[in-house]
Amino acid sequence: MNEQADFVTEYKTDGTFFRKRLDRLTDGRVMCTLCMEFTPRNQLAPVKGDPDGAVKDICMPCEDKEQEVLRWKESFAGRKTFRVLITGSRTWTLTEPIYSILDTLLDYARAADRLMIVVHGDCRSGPDKTAKMWVARQNARSKGPSGVIDDPTAADWSQGRSAGSKRNKAMVDNGVDVCLAFIEDQSRGATHCAGYAEKKGVPTFRWHMSSGQVTAPPMGWLTRVPV
Ligand SMILES: [Zn+2]
Repeated sequence: MNEQADFVTEYKTDGTFFRKRLDRLTDGRVMCTLCMEFTPRNQLAPVKGDPDGAVKDICMPCEDKEQEVLRWKESFAGRKTFRVLITGSRTWTLTEPIYSILDTLLDYARAADRLMIVVHGDCRSGPDKTAKMWVARQNARSKGPSGVIDDPTAADWSQGRSAGSKRNKAMVDNGVDVCLAFIEDQSRGATHCAGYAEKKGVPTFRWHMSSGQVTAPPMGWLTRVPV
């Protein structure tokens, strides 16, 4: 992988990709996508073994923190968990309401002394990526174990086009407490995942976006989240 500091690769639904310019100041500093601090290129985490000296879009302190977070996991053994499944359309770019909902659910999980596990399909865009970044930011801010774990399950696309729905079923069948779906223009993958979760008896809540308008679940849905 040869990723330049100023660009990040975004994948489209058809498997092709484009390079998106990162937020950048006139003095050349680039925004770390985890802590959102503007960072000089030589403070960005290097891509291991890259002969061209490529860097990631996260800073070195954030990279170190990620390593620390891996060690926290050992201290979580035996804790009661609260598993939140995030699914959604890859084209869904709105990070709100996802951040504020996850913030609220984390408050609930902490009050119930449960370890929050954020389950998602590990897509490089859309709500999966938003969920992953939300977990990373919780951990980046926390001095000790934050009580939040990222649990990505990527689809194995070499298995053909059904890989996405197989992955969705596996995420639900592994056990989740609640499913939150962010669906743009009735896209198939997220619609299927939410439908499957609901069929399996998982409390499922949907946000729909069409022509830039978001429709949220009916008021009071949070009271139906089992935590
Ligand atoms: Zn950072």
